[in-house]
Amino acid sequence: MATIDRGRLKELQAREAQRFVAEHPRSAELYRRAQGSLLGGVPMNWMKKWAGAFPVFVKHAKGAHFTCEDGREYVDLCLGDTGAMTGHSPEIVAEAVARRLRDGITLMLPTEDAIFVGEDLRRRFGLPYWQFTLTATDANRFSIRIAREITRRAKILVYHYCYHGSVDETIATLENGAVLPRRGNIGPPVNPAETTRVVEFNDLNALEDALKHHDVACLLAEPAMTNVGIILPDEGYWKAARELARRYGTLFISDETHTICAGPGGCTAEWKLDPDMLVFGKAIGSGIPGGTYGCTEEVAQRISARMHLEDCDVGGIGGTLAGNALSLAAMRATLQYILTPENFAKMIPLAVRFNEGVGAEIKKHDLPWNVQRLGCRAEYTFCQTAPRNGGESAAATDFELERFLHLYALNRGVLLTPFHNMALMCPQTTEQDIDLHTRIFAEAASELTNQ
Ligand code: PMP
Repeated sequence: MATIDRGRLKELQAREAQRFVAEHPRSAELYRRAQGSLLGGVPMNWMKKWAGAFPVFVKHAKGAHFTCEDGREYVDLCLGDTGAMTGHSPEIVAEAVARRLRDGITLMLPTEDAIFVGEDLRRRFGLPYWQFTLTATDANRFSIRIAREITRRAKILVYHYCYHGSVDETIATLENGAVLPRRGNIGPPVNPAETTRVVEFNDLNALEDALKHHDVACLLAEPAMTNVGIILPDEGYWKAARELARRYGTLFISDETHTICAGPGGCTAEWKLDPDMLVFGKAIGSGIPGGTYGCTEEVAQRISARMHLEDCDVGGIGGTLAGNALSLAAMRATLQYILTPENFAKMIPLAVRFNEGVGAEIKKHDLPWNVQRLGCRAEYTFCQTAPRNGGESAAATDFELERFLHLYALNRGVLLTPFHNMALMCPQTTEQDIDLHTRIFAEAASELTNQ
Protein backbone atom coordinates (compact mmCIF):
# COMPACT_ATOMS: atom_id res chain seq x y z
CA MET A 1 0.00 0.00 0.00
CA ALA A 2 1.36 3.44 -0.93
CA THR A 3 2.30 5.81 1.90
CA ILE A 4 2.46 9.57 1.63
CA ASP A 5 5.93 11.04 1.96
CA ARG A 6 5.30 14.07 4.16
CA GLY A 7 8.39 15.90 2.94
CA ARG A 8 7.25 15.54 -0.64
CA LEU A 9 3.73 16.64 0.33
CA LYS A 10 5.17 19.83 1.88
CA GLU A 11 7.20 20.60 -1.25
CA LEU A 12 4.22 20.03 -3.53
CA GLN A 13 2.00 22.14 -1.28
CA ALA A 14 4.51 25.03 -1.35
CA ARG A 15 4.64 24.84 -5.16
CA GLU A 16 0.82 24.86 -5.44
CA ALA A 17 0.50 27.70 -2.91
CA GLN A 18 2.91 29.84 -4.97
CA ARG A 19 1.05 29.06 -8.17
CA PHE A 20 -2.25 30.03 -6.55
CA VAL A 21 -0.93 33.42 -5.42
CA ALA A 22 0.68 34.12 -8.79
CA GLU A 23 -2.53 33.33 -10.68
CA HIS A 24 -4.93 35.33 -8.50
CA PRO A 25 -3.56 38.89 -8.24
CA ARG A 26 -7.02 40.48 -8.22
CA SER A 27 -8.35 38.21 -5.43
CA ALA A 28 -5.13 38.94 -3.49
CA GLU A 29 -5.72 42.67 -3.87
CA LEU A 30 -9.37 42.37 -2.78
CA TYR A 31 -8.35 40.26 0.21
CA ARG A 32 -5.82 42.94 1.24
CA ARG A 33 -8.52 45.59 0.96
CA ALA A 34 -11.01 43.45 2.91
CA GLN A 35 -8.65 43.43 5.91
CA GLY A 36 -9.66 47.06 6.50
CA SER A 37 -13.34 46.38 7.10
CA LEU A 38 -14.05 42.66 7.45
CA LEU A 39 -12.92 40.74 10.49
CA GLY A 40 -10.12 38.52 9.24
CA GLY A 41 -10.70 39.84 5.70
CA VAL A 42 -13.76 37.66 5.07
CA PRO A 43 -17.54 38.12 5.39
CA MET A 44 -17.80 34.97 7.53
CA ASN A 45 -15.02 33.39 9.57
CA TRP A 46 -15.07 29.96 7.88
CA MET A 47 -14.29 31.53 4.50
CA LYS A 48 -10.69 31.66 5.69
CA LYS A 49 -10.52 27.88 5.63
CA TRP A 50 -10.10 27.53 1.86
CA ALA A 51 -6.91 25.85 0.76
CA GLY A 52 -5.16 28.89 -0.78
CA ALA A 53 -3.58 31.85 1.05
CA PHE A 54 -6.84 33.75 0.55
CA PRO A 55 -10.30 32.94 -0.80
CA VAL A 56 -11.03 33.31 -4.49
CA PHE A 57 -13.37 36.28 -4.93
CA VAL A 58 -16.30 35.39 -7.19
CA LYS A 59 -17.55 37.52 -10.07
CA HIS A 60 -20.20 35.35 -11.66
CA ALA A 61 -21.74 31.91 -11.15
CA LYS A 62 -24.22 30.01 -13.28
CA GLY A 63 -25.21 26.35 -13.24
CA ALA A 64 -22.22 24.20 -12.31
CA HIS A 65 -19.58 26.83 -13.05
CA PHE A 66 -18.26 30.12 -11.75
CA THR A 67 -15.74 32.76 -12.75
CA CYS A 68 -13.47 34.53 -10.28
CA GLU A 69 -12.35 38.16 -10.24
CA ASP A 70 -9.15 37.10 -12.01
CA GLY A 71 -11.25 35.84 -14.92
CA ARG A 72 -10.52 32.15 -14.27
CA GLU A 73 -13.31 29.62 -14.75
CA TYR A 74 -14.06 26.76 -12.41
CA VAL A 75 -16.19 23.64 -12.26
CA ASP A 76 -17.99 24.00 -8.94
CA LEU A 77 -18.31 20.67 -7.11
CA CYS A 78 -18.86 22.48 -3.81
CA LEU A 79 -22.06 24.23 -4.86
CA GLY A 80 -22.20 26.37 -1.74
CA ASP A 81 -21.97 23.21 0.38
CA THR A 82 -25.42 22.19 -0.92
CA GLY A 83 -27.07 25.65 -0.96
CA ALA A 84 -26.56 25.67 -4.74
CA MET A 85 -27.23 21.98 -5.39
CA THR A 86 -29.89 23.31 -7.76
CA GLY A 87 -27.11 24.85 -9.87
CA HIS A 88 -26.21 28.50 -9.41
CA SER A 89 -29.04 30.94 -10.08
CA PRO A 90 -31.48 28.73 -11.99
CA GLU A 91 -33.26 30.98 -14.48
CA ILE A 92 -36.75 29.92 -13.42
CA VAL A 93 -36.03 30.65 -9.76
CA ALA A 94 -34.37 33.97 -10.65
CA GLU A 95 -37.53 34.96 -12.53
CA ALA A 96 -39.86 33.95 -9.67
CA VAL A 97 -37.68 35.80 -7.17
CA ALA A 98 -37.44 38.88 -9.41
CA ARG A 99 -41.26 38.99 -9.69
CA ARG A 100 -41.60 38.71 -5.93
CA LEU A 101 -38.93 41.37 -5.35
CA ARG A 102 -41.16 43.83 -7.16
CA ASP A 103 -44.40 42.61 -5.52
CA GLY A 104 -43.42 42.78 -1.85
CA ILE A 105 -40.62 40.98 -0.08
CA THR A 106 -41.76 40.56 3.51
CA LEU A 107 -45.09 41.34 5.15
CA MET A 108 -45.71 39.13 8.19
CA LEU A 109 -48.65 37.85 6.17
CA PRO A 110 -48.89 34.63 4.16
CA THR A 111 -48.81 34.33 0.38
CA GLU A 112 -50.31 31.52 -1.70
CA ASP A 113 -46.78 30.28 -2.45
CA ALA A 114 -46.59 29.05 1.17
CA ILE A 115 -49.50 26.67 0.59
CA PHE A 116 -47.98 25.41 -2.64
CA VAL A 117 -44.72 24.70 -0.81
CA GLY A 118 -46.47 23.06 2.16
CA GLU A 119 -48.43 20.79 -0.19
CA ASP A 120 -45.28 19.86 -2.10
CA LEU A 121 -43.36 19.06 1.11
CA ARG A 122 -46.27 16.99 2.36
CA ARG A 123 -46.16 14.84 -0.78
CA ARG A 124 -42.38 14.72 -0.92
CA PHE A 125 -41.64 13.72 2.67
CA GLY A 126 -44.97 12.29 3.85
CA LEU A 127 -45.34 14.63 6.84
CA PRO A 128 -48.53 16.68 6.94
CA TYR A 129 -47.63 20.05 8.55
CA TRP A 130 -44.86 22.58 7.83
CA GLN A 131 -43.36 25.81 9.13
CA PHE A 132 -40.69 28.06 7.64
CA THR A 133 -37.46 29.59 8.86
CA LEU A 134 -34.56 31.44 7.29
CA THR A 135 -31.98 28.69 7.83
CA ALA A 136 -31.69 25.00 8.49
CA THR A 137 -30.02 25.89 11.78
CA ASP A 138 -33.18 27.69 12.87
CA ALA A 139 -35.35 24.81 11.70
CA ASN A 140 -33.26 22.48 13.88
CA ARG A 141 -33.37 24.84 16.85
CA PHE A 142 -37.14 25.20 16.64
CA SER A 143 -37.67 21.47 16.20
CA ILE A 144 -35.60 20.85 19.33
CA ARG A 145 -37.64 23.43 21.28
CA ILE A 146 -40.85 21.76 20.20
CA ALA A 147 -39.54 18.31 21.11
CA ARG A 148 -38.55 19.56 24.57
CA GLU A 149 -41.86 21.33 25.06
CA ILE A 150 -44.09 18.41 24.16
CA THR A 151 -42.05 15.65 25.79
CA ARG A 152 -41.22 17.74 28.89
CA ARG A 153 -37.69 16.37 28.68
CA ALA A 154 -34.45 18.35 28.87
CA LYS A 155 -31.88 16.42 26.87
CA ILE A 156 -31.26 15.90 23.19
CA LEU A 157 -29.30 13.13 21.51
CA VAL A 158 -26.92 13.52 18.57
CA TYR A 159 -24.20 11.48 16.87
CA HIS A 160 -20.49 11.88 17.48
CA TYR A 161 -19.12 14.31 14.86
CA CYS A 162 -22.53 15.34 13.61
CA TYR A 163 -23.11 18.82 12.28
CA HIS A 164 -26.55 20.45 12.30
CA GLY A 165 -25.58 24.12 11.96
CA SER A 166 -24.77 26.48 14.79
CA VAL A 167 -27.21 24.87 17.23
CA ASP A 168 -25.57 25.14 20.68
CA GLU A 169 -26.66 21.74 21.95
CA THR A 170 -25.22 19.92 18.96
CA ILE A 171 -21.65 21.27 19.03
CA ALA A 172 -20.46 18.49 21.27
CA THR A 173 -18.34 15.38 20.90
CA LEU A 174 -17.72 12.26 22.86
CA GLU A 175 -14.28 11.99 24.48
CA ASN A 176 -13.56 8.81 26.45
CA GLY A 177 -17.25 8.38 27.15
CA ALA A 178 -17.80 11.98 28.28
CA VAL A 179 -19.70 14.68 26.38
CA LEU A 180 -17.50 17.75 25.83
CA PRO A 181 -17.74 20.93 23.77
CA ARG A 182 -16.46 20.04 20.31
CA ARG A 183 -12.94 21.27 19.60
CA GLY A 184 -13.23 24.85 18.33
CA ASN A 185 -16.66 25.44 19.93
CA ILE A 186 -16.69 29.21 20.45
CA GLY A 187 -18.13 30.35 23.78
CA PRO A 188 -20.45 27.44 24.62
CA PRO A 189 -23.28 28.94 26.71
CA VAL A 190 -23.34 25.93 29.02
CA ASN A 191 -21.38 22.73 29.13
CA PRO A 192 -23.10 20.61 26.43
CA ALA A 193 -22.99 17.63 28.81
CA GLU A 194 -25.93 19.35 30.54
CA THR A 195 -28.04 19.46 27.39
CA THR A 196 -26.84 16.66 25.19
CA ARG A 197 -26.06 12.97 24.99
CA VAL A 198 -23.72 11.89 22.21
CA VAL A 199 -23.39 8.39 20.79
CA GLU A 200 -21.59 6.82 17.85
CA PHE A 201 -23.63 6.23 14.70
CA ASN A 202 -24.46 2.60 13.86
CA ASP A 203 -24.24 1.46 17.49
CA LEU A 204 -27.68 0.36 18.66
CA ASN A 205 -26.52 -0.61 22.17
CA ALA A 206 -25.09 2.86 22.74
CA LEU A 207 -28.29 4.37 21.42
CA GLU A 208 -30.43 2.35 23.80
CA ASP A 209 -28.14 3.17 26.74
CA ALA A 210 -28.57 6.87 25.98
CA LEU A 211 -32.34 6.63 25.61
CA LYS A 212 -33.17 4.45 28.55
CA HIS A 213 -32.91 7.28 31.10
CA HIS A 214 -36.23 8.52 29.66
CA ASP A 215 -34.91 12.08 29.61
CA VAL A 216 -34.14 12.51 25.89
CA ALA A 217 -36.63 14.75 24.07
CA CYS A 218 -35.34 14.04 20.59
CA LEU A 219 -32.79 12.23 18.50
CA LEU A 220 -31.61 14.80 15.94
CA ALA A 221 -29.90 12.94 13.13
CA GLU A 222 -28.92 12.98 9.51
CA PRO A 223 -30.14 9.65 8.09
CA ALA A 224 -26.62 9.20 6.68
CA MET A 225 -23.87 11.31 8.20
CA THR A 226 -22.51 13.82 5.67
CA ASN A 227 -20.40 16.24 7.64
CA VAL A 228 -17.51 13.95 8.56
CA GLY A 229 -17.30 12.12 5.26
CA ILE A 230 -20.32 10.14 4.08
CA ILE A 231 -21.26 7.45 6.59
CA LEU A 232 -24.07 5.18 5.54
CA PRO A 233 -26.29 3.41 8.05
CA ASP A 234 -25.83 -0.33 8.52
CA GLU A 235 -28.55 -2.51 7.04
CA GLY A 236 -31.51 -2.38 9.43
CA TYR A 237 -30.01 0.36 11.62
CA TRP A 238 -32.79 2.89 11.13
CA LYS A 239 -35.58 0.39 11.57
CA ALA A 240 -34.15 -0.62 14.95
CA ALA A 241 -33.18 2.93 15.95
CA ARG A 242 -36.67 4.14 15.08
CA GLU A 243 -38.22 1.47 17.26
CA LEU A 244 -35.92 2.32 20.17
CA ALA A 245 -36.79 6.02 19.95
CA ARG A 246 -40.46 5.16 20.00
CA ARG A 247 -40.09 2.71 22.89
CA TYR A 248 -38.42 5.36 25.07
CA GLY A 249 -40.71 8.25 24.08
CA THR A 250 -38.02 10.16 22.15
CA LEU A 251 -38.93 12.03 18.98
CA PHE A 252 -36.88 11.32 15.87
CA ILE A 253 -35.98 14.45 13.89
CA SER A 254 -34.56 13.69 10.46
CA ASP A 255 -32.27 16.48 9.25
CA GLU A 256 -32.40 16.19 5.46
CA THR A 257 -30.52 19.41 4.74
CA HIS A 258 -27.67 17.52 3.04
CA THR A 259 -29.23 14.08 2.56
CA ILE A 260 -31.73 15.59 0.14
CA CYS A 261 -28.99 14.52 -2.30
CA ALA A 262 -30.46 10.99 -2.03
CA GLY A 263 -33.56 11.93 -4.02
CA PRO A 264 -36.54 14.32 -4.13
CA GLY A 265 -37.73 13.15 -0.69
CA GLY A 266 -34.25 12.67 0.76
CA CYS A 267 -33.36 9.52 2.66
CA THR A 268 -36.66 9.76 4.51
CA ALA A 269 -38.58 8.88 1.35
CA GLU A 270 -35.89 6.62 -0.16
CA TRP A 271 -35.58 4.51 2.99
CA LYS A 272 -39.13 4.98 4.36
CA LEU A 273 -37.85 6.38 7.65
CA ASP A 274 -41.06 7.65 9.26
CA PRO A 275 -39.63 10.49 11.40
CA ASP A 276 -41.67 12.55 13.88
CA MET A 277 -40.18 15.75 12.50
CA LEU A 278 -38.07 16.66 9.48
CA VAL A 279 -35.75 19.55 8.71
CA PHE A 280 -34.68 20.80 5.29
CA GLY A 281 -32.81 23.97 4.32
CA LYS A 282 -30.09 25.34 2.05
CA ALA A 283 -31.09 24.01 -1.39
CA ILE A 284 -34.82 24.38 -0.72
CA GLY A 285 -34.80 27.90 -2.22
CA SER A 286 -31.79 27.44 -4.52
CA GLY A 287 -29.76 29.30 -1.90
CA ILE A 288 -32.21 32.14 -1.24
CA PRO A 289 -32.32 31.97 2.58
CA GLY A 290 -35.01 29.60 3.72
CA GLY A 291 -35.52 26.49 5.79
CA THR A 292 -38.42 24.38 6.89
CA TYR A 293 -39.49 21.87 9.48
CA GLY A 294 -42.39 19.50 9.29
CA CYS A 295 -44.15 17.19 11.73
CA THR A 296 -46.60 14.34 12.02
CA GLU A 297 -50.28 14.69 12.87
CA GLU A 298 -49.54 13.50 16.40
CA VAL A 299 -46.75 16.02 16.98
CA ALA A 300 -48.97 18.75 15.52
CA GLN A 301 -51.70 17.93 18.01
CA ARG A 302 -49.30 17.88 20.91
CA ILE A 303 -47.89 21.27 19.87
CA SER A 304 -51.36 22.77 19.50
CA ALA A 305 -52.30 21.58 22.97
CA ARG A 306 -49.40 23.52 24.49
CA MET A 307 -49.31 26.71 22.39
CA HIS A 308 -51.37 29.72 23.30
CA LEU A 309 -52.35 32.44 20.89
CA GLU A 310 -51.44 35.21 23.30
CA ASP A 311 -47.81 34.05 23.62
CA CYS A 312 -47.12 32.57 20.20
CA ASP A 313 -44.91 35.47 19.06
CA VAL A 314 -42.51 35.37 22.00
CA GLY A 315 -42.06 31.66 22.65
CA GLY A 316 -38.59 31.30 21.18
CA ILE A 317 -39.80 30.09 17.80
CA GLY A 318 -39.97 32.82 15.22
CA GLY A 319 -37.85 35.33 13.35
CA THR A 320 -39.44 38.41 11.78
CA LEU A 321 -38.34 37.40 8.30
CA ALA A 322 -39.20 33.69 8.69
CA GLY A 323 -41.80 32.59 6.16
CA ASN A 324 -41.28 35.77 4.13
CA ALA A 325 -42.79 36.05 0.67
CA LEU A 326 -39.44 36.12 -1.15
CA SER A 327 -38.08 32.92 0.41
CA LEU A 328 -41.34 31.14 -0.33
CA ALA A 329 -41.36 32.25 -3.96
CA ALA A 330 -37.84 30.81 -4.28
CA MET A 331 -38.88 27.57 -2.56
CA ARG A 332 -41.92 27.16 -4.76
CA ALA A 333 -39.96 27.51 -7.99
CA THR A 334 -37.14 25.30 -6.68
CA LEU A 335 -39.41 22.48 -5.58
CA GLN A 336 -41.60 22.65 -8.67
CA TYR A 337 -38.92 22.90 -11.33
CA ILE A 338 -35.49 21.98 -9.94
CA LEU A 339 -35.56 19.35 -7.18
CA THR A 340 -37.56 17.03 -9.43
CA PRO A 341 -37.23 13.28 -10.07
CA GLU A 342 -36.05 14.07 -13.63
CA ASN A 343 -33.16 16.19 -12.38
CA PHE A 344 -32.14 13.62 -9.75
CA ALA A 345 -32.09 11.03 -12.52
CA LYS A 346 -29.46 13.20 -14.26
CA MET A 347 -27.45 14.07 -11.15
CA ILE A 348 -27.11 10.67 -9.46
CA PRO A 349 -25.33 8.88 -12.37
CA LEU A 350 -22.76 11.70 -12.35
CA ALA A 351 -21.90 10.94 -8.73
CA VAL A 352 -21.63 7.26 -9.69
CA ARG A 353 -19.21 8.31 -12.45
CA PHE A 354 -17.22 10.39 -9.94
CA ASN A 355 -16.90 7.39 -7.63
CA GLU A 356 -15.92 5.02 -10.39
CA GLY A 357 -13.26 7.42 -11.67
CA VAL A 358 -11.79 8.32 -8.29
CA GLY A 359 -12.14 4.73 -7.03
CA ALA A 360 -10.15 3.43 -10.03
CA GLU A 361 -7.35 5.95 -9.42
CA ILE A 362 -7.20 5.07 -5.71
CA LYS A 363 -6.79 1.45 -6.70
CA LYS A 364 -4.28 2.17 -9.46
CA HIS A 365 -2.07 4.16 -7.08
CA ASP A 366 -2.57 1.66 -4.29
CA LEU A 367 -3.70 4.38 -1.88
CA PRO A 368 -5.35 3.42 1.44
CA TRP A 369 -8.36 5.63 0.67
CA ASN A 370 -11.99 4.94 -0.21
CA VAL A 371 -14.82 6.78 -1.90
CA GLN A 372 -18.45 6.84 -0.81
CA ARG A 373 -21.67 8.09 -2.33
CA LEU A 374 -25.13 9.11 -1.30
CA GLY A 375 -27.36 9.98 -4.27
CA CYS A 376 -25.71 12.87 -6.10
CA ARG A 377 -23.06 13.46 -3.39
CA ALA A 378 -19.69 11.74 -3.46
CA GLU A 379 -16.75 11.92 -1.11
CA TYR A 380 -13.39 10.27 -0.60
CA THR A 381 -11.79 9.68 2.81
CA PHE A 382 -8.27 8.80 3.80
CA CYS A 383 -8.94 5.35 5.17
CA GLN A 384 -9.03 2.01 3.43
CA THR A 385 -12.54 0.93 4.29
CA ALA A 386 -15.64 3.05 4.62
CA PRO A 387 -15.92 4.45 8.17
CA ARG A 388 -18.96 3.25 10.12
CA ASN A 389 -19.13 6.11 12.58
CA GLY A 390 -17.98 9.65 13.29
CA GLY A 391 -15.07 8.61 15.48
CA GLU A 392 -13.59 6.36 12.79
CA SER A 393 -14.08 8.94 10.08
CA ALA A 394 -12.65 11.81 12.15
CA ALA A 395 -9.58 9.69 12.95
CA ALA A 396 -8.94 9.40 9.20
CA THR A 397 -8.98 13.14 8.48
CA ASP A 398 -5.70 14.54 7.25
CA PHE A 399 -5.76 18.32 7.17
CA GLU A 400 -2.45 18.68 5.27
CA LEU A 401 -3.34 16.16 2.60
CA GLU A 402 -6.83 17.50 2.21
CA ARG A 403 -5.56 21.06 1.72
CA PHE A 404 -3.08 19.89 -0.86
CA LEU A 405 -5.68 18.01 -2.92
CA HIS A 406 -8.11 20.92 -2.72
CA LEU A 407 -5.51 23.45 -3.80
CA TYR A 408 -4.26 21.16 -6.55
CA ALA A 409 -7.81 20.90 -7.92
CA LEU A 410 -8.49 24.62 -7.52
CA ASN A 411 -5.32 25.54 -9.43
CA ARG A 412 -6.58 23.37 -12.28
CA GLY A 413 -10.12 24.71 -12.32
CA VAL A 414 -12.13 22.53 -9.93
CA LEU A 415 -13.62 23.64 -6.62
CA LEU A 416 -14.19 20.96 -3.97
CA THR A 417 -16.09 21.53 -0.73
CA PRO A 418 -13.78 22.80 1.98
CA PHE A 419 -13.68 21.02 5.36
CA HIS A 420 -13.93 17.64 3.63
CA ASN A 421 -13.48 15.97 0.23
CA MET A 422 -17.01 16.26 -1.06
CA ALA A 423 -18.26 16.64 -4.61
CA LEU A 424 -21.87 17.46 -5.31
CA MET A 425 -23.72 17.32 -8.62
CA CYS A 426 -26.29 19.83 -9.84
CA PRO A 427 -28.58 19.54 -12.90
CA GLN A 428 -26.01 21.33 -15.11
CA THR A 429 -22.97 19.29 -14.05
CA THR A 430 -21.63 17.35 -17.04
CA GLU A 431 -19.66 14.14 -17.55
CA GLN A 432 -16.81 16.33 -18.83
CA ASP A 433 -16.80 18.20 -15.50
CA ILE A 434 -16.50 14.93 -13.60
CA ASP A 435 -13.83 13.56 -15.92
CA LEU A 436 -11.81 16.74 -15.52
CA HIS A 437 -11.82 16.20 -11.76
CA THR A 438 -10.83 12.55 -12.19
CA ARG A 439 -7.87 13.51 -14.41
CA ILE A 440 -6.72 16.09 -11.87
CA PHE A 441 -7.12 13.62 -9.00
CA ALA A 442 -5.07 11.07 -10.95
CA GLU A 443 -2.31 13.62 -11.59
CA ALA A 444 -2.22 14.56 -7.90
CA ALA A 445 -2.09 10.91 -6.88
CA SER A 446 0.80 10.32 -9.32
CA GLU A 447 2.76 13.26 -7.97
CA LEU A 448 2.11 12.24 -4.36
CA THR A 449 3.16 8.64 -4.87
CA ASN A 450 5.87 9.33 -7.44
CA GLN A 451 4.26 6.86 -9.85
N1 PMP B 1 -28.09 20.54 8.97
C1 PMP B 1 -27.05 19.98 8.35
C2 PMP B 1 -27.02 18.50 8.16
C3 PMP B 1 -26.01 20.78 7.88
O1 PMP B 1 -24.96 20.21 7.27
C4 PMP B 1 -26.07 22.17 8.07
C5 PMP B 1 -24.96 23.10 7.60
N2 PMP B 1 -23.94 22.56 6.91
C6 PMP B 1 -27.17 22.70 8.72
C7 PMP B 1 -28.16 21.86 9.16
C8 PMP B 1 -27.29 24.16 8.95
O2 PMP B 1 -27.51 24.86 7.78
P1 PMP B 1 -27.39 26.43 7.79
O3 PMP B 1 -25.93 26.72 8.10
O4 PMP B 1 -27.76 26.83 6.42
O5 PMP B 1 -28.28 26.96 8.84
